[in-house]
Amino acid sequence: MKATAMTCCDLCDKQLAKSKRGGPHGYMKNLGDKRVFVSQGRLGYEEQDYQCLTCQARFTHSTNKNDQAWTLWEG
Ligand SMILES: [Zn+2]
Repeated sequence: MKATAMTCCDLCDKQLAKSKRGGPHGYMKNLGDKRVFVSQGRLGYEEQDYQCLTCQARFTHSTNKNDQAWTLWEG
């Protein structure tokens, strides 16, 4: 199942299907800095944005248990 109607390359299609432990595919670059969220003195979770060099799709990777590991930016 495709996540969106946007055109993604094959690697990005596979990226969205990856489990939480999966790292970014080989043609992604970091977009900005990692964001670390701390709540009440405990390490919460981290987010890092990535952009695909092939199809320019942008992703956020989150370690938040309540979020999807990989989220494709809409629009
Ligand atoms: Zn891509």
